[in-house]
Amino acid sequence: MKLLLVEDNRTLAADLKQFLTENDFLVETAETFSEAREKIGLYQYDLIILDLGLPDGNGLNLIPIIKERAFECGILIVTARDSVEDKVKGLDLGADDYITKPFHKAELNARVRSLLRRKKFNGGNELSFNEIRVDLYSAQAFVHDKPIALTRKEYDLLLYFLYNRNRVLTKESIAEHLWGDHIDQQDRFDFIYNHIKNLRKKLMNAGGKNYIRAMYGMGYKFTDR
Ligand code: CA
Repeated sequence: MKLLLVEDNRTLAADLKQFLTENDFLVETAETFSEAREKIGLYQYDLIILDLGLPDGNGLNLIPIIKERAFECGILIVTARDSVEDKVKGLDLGADDYITKPFHKAELNARVRSLLRRKKFNGGNELSFNEIRVDLYSAQAFVHDKPIALTRKEYDLLLYFLYNRNRVLTKESIAEHLWGDHIDQQDRFDFIYNHIKNLRKKLMNAGGKNYIRAMYGMGYKFTDR
């Protein structure tokens, strides 16, 4: 899952980025309102952690831009203690949840996970598609109820396919989702090909069907249609 952390306090941002990365998220950061607005316009995120007090603007004003650009993206606002008004405004504008500073990192992690489950997986802890099942808590994939051993990238790729099933995913969007915003995409396309090949092989070796279709010149689609 790919997050954008909008936070102007560099030390805090670096600390949270490290923590969230250790918890298996791909984390991009923005330090200012304008940097955040630019990234939101250019890239896709599963969830945005949004500090409201930014040096060049109020984070609340980013919410409508996020909603317009990426309706499915989760928004967790970070508010100062006692600012009930900000929380209410943020939720009214379409933020999904809030966390109040100072917070424990474990709480942030729990909120991010619960928000993603709600937004992406309809609140469940499992995602399934025919004979394939993924337990989101343990990050374990199963085929016909037998666990299969996936690398971190293969697991992320499988999740990305599962919640975008029946949609064409461009190689660019897959690259961005697995490696982050600032990648030399041409180099990554070979990696994508290899990860897809390995994922497909592991699913099929466990008795799964081949759902990953290469769409010539466009990208890939995960589908049983
Ligand atoms: Ca701030």
